[in-house]
Amino acid sequence: MNLLQKLFGGSPASPQRHYYTFSVKCRRCGEIIEGRVDLNNDLSVEYENGGDIYYACKTLMGENRCFQRVEVELKFTSGRELLERNIIGGEFI
Ligand SMILES: [Zn+2]
Repeated sequence: MNLLQKLFGGSPASPQRHYYTFSVKCRRCGEIIEGRVDLNNDLSVEYENGGDIYYACKTLMGENRCFQRVEVELKFTSGRELLERNIIGGEFI
């Protein structure tokens, strides 16, 4: 039994993938960029204040030529609820 099976064991959750999706706006050119986190595969776990915190970091780049990178850091609880989010190079919309 792997970690994810333990975490989700006992819940009636369907086996389909869970994604957290979000949109950001590039600070430089204003382009809207869609981001997506795979809640089953993209998270790394750390222990914080006695509990498990799940981190995801994404670097997004738009299709324009501005080459600004938008770096996003997301924190989730073990129940995959969003705790905190930080962004560099853009803003959440
Ligand atoms: Zn841009």
